[in-house]
Amino acid sequence: RAKESGRNRIEVFTGTVAAEIRSAWQLSVAFRAALENDEFVPFFQPQICARTGNLVGVEALVRWRHPTLGLLRPGQFMPVAEQLRLVPELDRIVMQKSAPVLERWREKGLIVPRISFNVSSGHLHDPEVLCAAQRMAGGETRVAFELVESILVEEESETFRRHLEAIRALGIDIEIDDFGSGHASILGLMQIAPTALKIDRRIVAPIVEDPGARRMVKMIVDLATSQNVRTVAEGVETAEQARLLREMGCDVLQGFLYAEPLDEAELPRHLRAMVWYHDPLEEPAPAAD
Ligand code: C2E
Ligand code: MG
Ligand code: MG
Ligand code: MG
Repeated sequence: RAKESGRNRIEVFTGTVAAEIRSAWQLSVAFRAALENDEFVPFFQPQICARTGNLVGVEALVRWRHPTLGLLRPGQFMPVAEQLRLVPELDRIVMQKSAPVLERWREKGLIVPRISFNVSSGHLHDPEVLCAAQRMAGGETRVAFELVESILVEEESETFRRHLEAIRALGIDIEIDDFGSGHASILGLMQIAPTALKIDRRIVAPIVEDPGARRMVKMIVDLATSQNVRTVAEGVETAEQARLLREMGCDVLQGFLYAEPLDEAELPRHLRAMVWYHDPLEEPAPAAD
């Protein structure tokens, strides 16, 4: 028996579990080093007005420029950031680095009416996050926080509502991200008084083939419109999806059809190349709504 368990133990420590522990440990060491070496940067994905084709805003999305592995996406490092409790630190970096980018774009004649940041609900009150947001708010570019729908279920507390009020008092908008993927009540949702609902990519993706998905989008758009809340469709990849969304009254479109998330230099170049829509570099962009 002892022999057996001994053998098992050896197996555990030489097998895949050990490899996983080692690589998780290596990833956390690499992550801390990356913070130290300033390897996290914001990318920006354009958001397009469904009616006019104008640029109405950008969503900031974090990327890790790894010196040897190249560009890493949040799916590859967010879990480790969460484990190390360093998500607020990342959020702060993304906000702090976005402010001068907006400034440099403005100097080139590109005025972005709105910028939204993904903020984990648990860190809404984090002083780092609040400070960075406060410094950005009140400028020419409106600032929004995107909160995922599931937080409405987890965070139905008075404290959470107070944090939301504090955010709003700074002049920051609240948007609900990945809407339709969780199970928040409509009542809870409306109490948050969001400025926008972002319809989850998984609902948008099948709308061309699936009438059920189409009806779901229509229902969300009608619900939001009745409450004076804007709708943003995530993950728009085809012209046919865009046409249907426009027809159903969706306000803003975001997805690979228009642009993937781009870095500071790429974004103005990309917008200029999109000749088929209003060129924000030639005329000042109109107000967001
Ligand atoms: P999200 O906020 O729902 O962001 C949208 C994701 O969909 C982005 O992935 C974007 O690249 C991707 N996407 C956009 N258009 C399309 C499309 O047409 N087709 C497809 N298939 N995908 C599209 P990304 O950048 O990998 O980010 C993943 C998630 O990581 C985000 O989901 C967000 O929840 C989180 N995240 C990103 N940046 C930050 C950040 O700075 N702070 C925090 N706390 N979370 C972040
Ligand atoms: Mg988002
Ligand atoms: Mg989303
Ligand atoms: Mg998503």
